[in-house]
Amino acid sequence: MKKYIMAIDSGTTSNRCIIFNKKGEIVSSSQKEFKQYFPQPGWVEQDADEIWSNQIGVCVEAINKANIKAEEISSIGITNQRETTIIWNKKTGIPIYNAIVWQCRRTSNYCDELKNKGYTEKIKEKTGLLIDAYFSATKIKWILENVEGAKEQAEKGELLFGTVDTWLIYKLTGGKTHATDYSNASRTMLYNINELKWDEEILQLLEIPKEILPEVRNSSGNFGKVIAKYFGGEIEITGVAGDQQSALFGQICLEEGEAKNTYGTGAFLLMNTGRKKIESKKGLLSTIAWGIDGKITYALEGSIFVAGSAVQWLRDDLKIIDSSEDSEYMATKVEDTNDCYIVPAFTGLGAPYWDQYARGTIVGLTRGVNKYHIIRATLESIALLSQDVLHVMEKECNGKLKKLKVDGGASANNFMMQFQSDITNTKVVRPKLLESTARGAAFLAGIHSGFWTIEEIQELEKDARIFIPKMSEEERNKKIKRWHRAVEYSKNWAKED
Ligand code: ADP
Repeated sequence: MKKYIMAIDSGTTSNRCIIFNKKGEIVSSSQKEFKQYFPQPGWVEQDADEIWSNQIGVCVEAINKANIKAEEISSIGITNQRETTIIWNKKTGIPIYNAIVWQCRRTSNYCDELKNKGYTEKIKEKTGLLIDAYFSATKIKWILENVEGAKEQAEKGELLFGTVDTWLIYKLTGGKTHATDYSNASRTMLYNINELKWDEEILQLLEIPKEILPEVRNSSGNFGKVIAKYFGGEIEITGVAGDQQSALFGQICLEEGEAKNTYGTGAFLLMNTGRKKIESKKGLLSTIAWGIDGKITYALEGSIFVAGSAVQWLRDDLKIIDSSEDSEYMATKVEDTNDCYIVPAFTGLGAPYWDQYARGTIVGLTRGVNKYHIIRATLESIALLSQDVLHVMEKECNGKLKKLKVDGGASANNFMMQFQSDITNTKVVRPKLLESTARGAAFLAGIHSGFWTIEEIQELEKDARIFIPKMSEEERNKKIKRWHRAVEYSKNWAKED
């Protein structure tokens, strides 16, 4: 009877819905973009009501395409863009302001103030995060202080806050459930990931009333029933996780020491660190991967600002490739990069360098360097930046990575994946299905609703393409050394003389 799981993937630019069968295959999928608003430079907003109506439309479309009934769906999993902040009226369900998107920088100055007052270490110790405008906390504070009457209403318990998961759950359950999961809670900068509770001290510091916060539940657990009118029958929501954590689960990185890299516009590396929260000394974030049966799995997270977007630069700005896919065969027209290195630090360098003044650079140009070398060096740079983060993760976890699982649009590039394997000296495993984010939510939901066991999920991993390291140690060390020299040249460039 129950043949399917529905995964709702509410992303930053579009909403998707994928229906999976028992074999983990896609039965149908549907996707639709929604509007982004940029009211001021550096500000990013979305219309929370549009996110909801667009998402429900996409779900209905996926059900219709698959030609199935609500009774055939075992349960629903939700994964979402993280940190994006929505506050709404408890009685009316109407948002009091647009959703403030994770990318929005409007609270940067306040974050600097917090840093200057010396809160960095304390907040890191409690939440695993570095003080930044990305996270929900300062966005909540901004809404409460800038929407007329919001603060008083919040104190009277008339408002509710949620990240996108919480908002969708609230709407789907007809206002019955106001909850989030551990992974999403851990991105708010309000959640104490050691004691597993909203942190009173941070709440007081930011003057955020506790009443507005959702209940934090297991990522694979009960979030209530979707009311019958939406899909023609009630369906339980039994899985929730933020997008990167969901991808880690979807890649079946369920054991300590397993890691995945998602190569999209930027790249997101997450390593499962098991029951231990590891505090990074090199600027990686500690976060909750998921909670199941009240047991928490932690992760280390590092992001690379520029990954696939460096390929877009080759295509749209240098115009030396016609499509992103072309970068693969063009890179293999030459044997090497002719000792040319590109550091795509277009917006500065993240972990482990943390230099916001770094800018992109090309070093080693000679008369013999042609466009193929440039393309090859660009693809290599994405893998080298990933290697820098992986190296820190391995060091901080005292272990060597056994394999790196990969997904995201740019992981389709075979040359780049082989080079990643070579330079990391680790197997790189690319699943046939690159939809790891949605799959993670489906797995979390399916485990709780009894659709799959963990063992069955591990079985679904077959059909992956595996890249085996082939580069000699000598060559690898030389490459990494030259790369680090190139990185030095990119540092500090944007600083005033
Ligand atoms: P996002 O989710 O961030 O929008 P995707 O996972 O859809 O990103 O990946 C798109 C990115 O991957 C783009 O930046 C694109 O240039 C890059 N990309 C897509 N295919 C390839 C390829 N074959 N080789 C290299 N880069 C690619």
